[in-house]
Amino acid sequence: MNFLENNLALITGASSGIGAACVRVLAKNKVNLLLLARREDKLKELKKELDAYGVKVEIFVLDVSKKEKVQDFAKKIENYNIDILINSAGLALGLESIQDGILENWDKMIDVNIKGFLYISRIIIPKMLKQNKGHIINLGSVAGLYSYPNGNVYCATKSAVHSLSKAMNADLFGSAIKVSNIAPGAVETEFSSVRFKGDEKKSAEVYEGYKPLEAYDIADLIFYVLNTPKHVNIQDINIMPTAQRNPYLVAKS
Ligand code: NAP
Repeated sequence: MNFLENNLALITGASSGIGAACVRVLAKNKVNLLLLARREDKLKELKKELDAYGVKVEIFVLDVSKKEKVQDFAKKIENYNIDILINSAGLALGLESIQDGILENWDKMIDVNIKGFLYISRIIIPKMLKQNKGHIINLGSVAGLYSYPNGNVYCATKSAVHSLSKAMNADLFGSAIKVSNIAPGAVETEFSSVRFKGDEKKSAEVYEGYKPLEAYDIADLIFYVLNTPKHVNIQDINIMPTAQRNPYLVAKS
């Protein structure tokens, strides 16, 4: 049974990785889509690819951390009834100890992973409440559960996502809006390449010697979580590669 046919989903971080995989999985399942990210070329390519599925697709080029721009975006989608929000936009920058931390990296991670996530959620949740229908998927992380060495600020931002997912569930008590926090372990996407600023050798090392998760492992899980009956709200899920049991235990060959 597909409960999601003809729903409208807004996906942030749609240009890559988990967000892009969610876009493809939802399109195959007849969900109409609003794709949001900063890289227009990637969004345009993806939109073209989705022609095959016969769903409605619109793209929005937006940096979620820019408060005023998010307000402009809110005006553009004023008349849209959004059923699904997937908050996937996010990033890690660097892997330094607190004592060697790079302030610009800290600012960026806090601005995108916490503030941007909040700005987008703030404009979509009232719309969902108005229609008393909606499902919000937040991308937390194993990093939000364990502060691994040198992960410090990234871990803190993902901890904030976990905390805010709980807060959303609490504040939306009594409504039909569902909130699900998904916390993946290692997923092979552009994530590490962004973290190490394009150092492909360093980023490849993260995924060497074991089979990491693929973006589709997460997107398929998200589809399952979204496609539950009205009375079912899956609030929290941790998902890791079989080789990984926590950030410190990764069985590498
Ligand atoms: P990814 O391939 O690097 O994708 C990140 C996405 O976020 C991109 O589409 C990027 O698009 C978008 N983004 C970044 N900054 C943005 C901004 N300021 N405004 C709008 N969009 C922005 O990484 P991913 O693995 O799919 O990560 C998706 C989410 O999963 C993140 O929140 C991450 O923390 C979380 N996560 C990842 C892993 C992992 O191992 N990969 C594990 C746990 C959790 P543009 O560059 O085009 O803007």
